[in-house]
Amino acid sequence: MEEKQGQPRRKIIHIDMDAFYASVEQRDNPEYCGKPLVVGGAPDARGVVATASYEARKFGVRSAMSSRRALQLCPHAIFVRPRFAAYKEVSQHIREIFGRYTDLIEPLSLDEAYLDVTEDKLGIGSAIDIAKAIKQAIKDELDLTASAGVSVNKFVAKIASDMEKPDGLTFIGPSSLASFIEKLPVEKFWGVGKVTADKMKKLGLFTGADLKQLSLEQITRHFGKAGAFYYNIVRGIDEREVQPHRETKSVGAEDTFPYDLSSLEEMEAELDKIALLVHQRLVKHQLKGRTITLKVKYSDFRQITRSQSYPDGLDDLQTIAATAKSLLRATDVEESPVRLLGITVSNFTTPEIREKGPSGQLELF
Ligand SMILES: [Mg+2]
Repeated sequence: MEEKQGQPRRKIIHIDMDAFYASVEQRDNPEYCGKPLVVGGAPDARGVVATASYEARKFGVRSAMSSRRALQLCPHAIFVRPRFAAYKEVSQHIREIFGRYTDLIEPLSLDEAYLDVTEDKLGIGSAIDIAKAIKQAIKDELDLTASAGVSVNKFVAKIASDMEKPDGLTFIGPSSLASFIEKLPVEKFWGVGKVTADKMKKLGLFTGADLKQLSLEQITRHFGKAGAFYYNIVRGIDEREVQPHRETKSVGAEDTFPYDLSSLEEMEAELDKIALLVHQRLVKHQLKGRTITLKVKYSDFRQITRSQSYPDGLDDLQTIAATAKSLLRATDVEESPVRLLGITVSNFTTPEIREKGPSGQLELF
């Protein structure tokens, strides 16, 4: 692992609560303890699983799956609606626990955050000891468990926190960093989604070790700008800082329909409504974006996104609606019914606005 001269190696912790919503429900409702529990929408109302308890996961129930599918997999599961107010309260409490050790906290969601503890407030020094203390405080004060990943950068810390769930603590230090990354399947690499992973596999790239064989020029040729990032992280270099105030990266709106839409006319009418919302939000926050992204979820839960970028930032309703519609027409929506449409504007030209809400992102939704 290369190190910049004169700069201390960073100590990064990624904390992730275990089966967060489901664990809060089991804590508050002892009758759910030890039982397969699904927090999310009802199976008979096109609901989606937000979080499943570990007992339900044994049956294959996963987040973002339809509740109907979850019920098929685990017929005796208990379904409950999410109580976001309760989760936010817990989230604020864990944020307060983190704040005892560092002010460099970057929340990713209600139950997940990066902490930079290169210099911790209490002078503990050991990132592993800090992670242990945080886990213990979460257990003592909230009666919940979290998993922690400790490493020298965000990329590895985040993967590490997922390795020994629940109630895990995984440390990937400088000496094990290279071998750890070499063994990682490409899907685990930051920013590698299904499409990129498939492309990598077609090129015979299955692990970090395979990616490491490519020169910067080769990897950039295949994967563009992202290639340079992969080139670095596969060598353990991830300079992304823990950002205490995450900038707003996008503004969007989406709608799930009570029934599947199959006519283009209906879909375009819905896009007009969604575009109006997005436009209002952009104007309200004085943002102009260069990239417009359309999201389509089909009735079979397949999801696609299509984007178009412009040289200058924009916030006008007409362009947003027209772009979304032309992106829609270029998909195969006419062959498959659609259950959800969404529009996002990103790549802002105006100065970023700072975080307001506890979720770490400006709360526009
Ligand atoms: Mg979690």
